[in-house]
Amino acid sequence: MTISDHRPLSRRSLLQAMTALAGAAALPTLGARRALATMPDLPANFGKGRSIAIVGAGVAGLTAGWKLANAGFKVTIYEGDSRYGGRSLTPRPVRAAYRDWWFNKYNPERLFPNMYVSTYHEDERSPDPAPQICQFDDPLWNPNSGRSPVELFLNAGPGRIPSDHVALIRLCQQTGVALEPYIFQSNYNLLQSPTFANGAPVAYNKVNYSARGQVAEMLAKAIAEDTQLSAEFRKQMLNLLQQMGDLNAQNQLKDSTRMGYSHLPGGWRDAPIANPAVPLQQTLDSGFAGGGNPETSPGSFLYNADNIDWQNSLMQPIGGMDRVWQRLLVQPVPTGSLQLRSGDPRGRGLQARDGGGKGVRRFVGDLVLLNHRIAGIHETSKANIRIDFVVTDPVGGKSTTGSETFDFCFSSMAPNLLAKTPTSLSPEFNAWLAKVDQTPAIKVGWQGRTRFWERENNIYGGISWTKDIIGQIWYPSEDFNASTGVLTGAYNRGPGAVTFGNYKQKERIAAALHGGSLLHADFAAKVYADKGLTIAWHYMPFQVGGWASDTANTQPDVYRAITDLPRGRLYLAGDAWSYLPGWQEGAITSVYEAIGALAKVHG
Ligand SMILES: Cc1cc2nc3c(=O)[nH]c(=O)nc-3n(C[C@H](O)[C@H](O)[C@H](O)COP(=O)(O)OP(=O)(O)OC[C@H]3O[C@@H](n4cnc5c(N)ncnc54)[C@H](O)[C@@H]3O)c2cc1C
Repeated sequence: MTISDHRPLSRRSLLQAMTALAGAAALPTLGARRALATMPDLPANFGKGRSIAIVGAGVAGLTAGWKLANAGFKVTIYEGDSRYGGRSLTPRPVRAAYRDWWFNKYNPERLFPNMYVSTYHEDERSPDPAPQICQFDDPLWNPNSGRSPVELFLNAGPGRIPSDHVALIRLCQQTGVALEPYIFQSNYNLLQSPTFANGAPVAYNKVNYSARGQVAEMLAKAIAEDTQLSAEFRKQMLNLLQQMGDLNAQNQLKDSTRMGYSHLPGGWRDAPIANPAVPLQQTLDSGFAGGGNPETSPGSFLYNADNIDWQNSLMQPIGGMDRVWQRLLVQPVPTGSLQLRSGDPRGRGLQARDGGGKGVRRFVGDLVLLNHRIAGIHETSKANIRIDFVVTDPVGGKSTTGSETFDFCFSSMAPNLLAKTPTSLSPEFNAWLAKVDQTPAIKVGWQGRTRFWERENNIYGGISWTKDIIGQIWYPSEDFNASTGVLTGAYNRGPGAVTFGNYKQKERIAAALHGGSLLHADFAAKVYADKGLTIAWHYMPFQVGGWASDTANTQPDVYRAITDLPRGRLYLAGDAWSYLPGWQEGAITSVYEAIGALAKVHG
């Protein structure tokens, strides 16, 4: 597939390319900018007669495939794994009736049946690489009743979308991913530390508003006594502190209901009893304020919600985070964007679909070759690039090799994996790629026998935090008052994730049940303990960690070197090539940058 790239550059196409570079001019090396919410406009016929190989069918690879196919390119997306989505993994119930129900709701045509994932496994680096199968199920659901079950899934990778992740939100709008609120924090979420109340969990509002009121009280006292300040300034400051800390007219934290109630207000003479303030020293001793590097610890239990990435409003796709790439898979692309080679595994399915009376339709998912691991990327001449791949038969496990030639290649594999892949990149550049620090990350999922957190603790969404190795528990932001639901029963990163990931599955389950019991008494009896799922991202196939460890800030020299792009016909994208590693926004904006750069150099 080699198509010459020598085109005369007319004034018009130059102007078009310049327009495209409204985005490309903002290559990461050029400093601060507002993220590109949409892809830059491209010169007309930009991709006509040209071909591109894309490595990886995660959010970055699929976004690139969709955009480039619609810009006229012939596109092949090589995915080493047997599933789509990369780190966006959302295991769903394996029960056949449940799967059927899901397809009827979300994908009645059953395009790309592999988009429903119920099983995954870690690889040979893991202490427990056996497949994990999602056994979640709604026990009250009768498939013949015509009713829907409670929708059960674990967002084992990404789970939330901040409101300033404009490119992802726009992509969701363009591809038809419905969004709903994701609740990061609710006042009844719990905090737990061995140095607070002998390890008993405490509601977030009790600690947070006590500390805030007490700090306001102290500052108000100091300001009231300060004779150097002007009367007007003192008055304004005292008013601000009264509002901030809910202080009374005497600047005291008394009669505030912000800390919640030990007895809720009721009818008639059923008067409320407000919680007393938690003594400040107790809060200071608890360690809830946190400290250290949020890349390697769960951060500040009290102030996590102030972090720009976790501020209100956050969102989640209705039905699970995998809806993002599932909707990408079913986006139409021009029929000419797909090029089948002889014996192509996609041929048979396409013939059946084309013969089904709906005419020839092609979708982003048709561009993907699963089970195709890229083993080499070589620029063979100034005009093309050769892709070497290993195909693994998903049934027998037998491997065969092959090569194809393209005009360009986009790779979204992790930098450290690219460094190990034979390519025509220089040894110096590979050395930079290999240096990118990655953050290990783990998660656990439980199905509740009931939604005990709602009934017993008034917790509707949000996160409870613990100093235990599980780090945190997420409560579902959807389906309040349903009969069951899925908890993210652990989410940790850094050293805690390494320790947890090195346990065998049985030990992980035991550790996560113990952590859960520190926040909710009798936890093991309240969840389906035998249906727990665990994941250590640093042991997942084709991954090296949860995400790159904020390279731009923690390894600026490395970040500068790896974003010194483009390099010949190979373009690099994915969240590691962005200021937002660990966020899909980074994956998408880096793709838009790469496309902008391609337009600049080859438009
Ligand atoms: C635990 C966790 C929590 C997260 N939370 C959030 C969140 O709340 N919100 C958010 O927006 N983001 C979150 N993220 C980050 C988000 O998952 C990523 O930013 C995004 O999925 C990255 O997409 P990508 O396409 O760049 O990379 P990937 O998804 O990693 O895709 C790369 C693809 O390349 C494939 N590949 C690798 N090597 C080869 C090869 N040699 N040949 C062929 N294919 C290959 C891989 O199999 C993979 O499919 C989280 C991630 C994790 C792990």
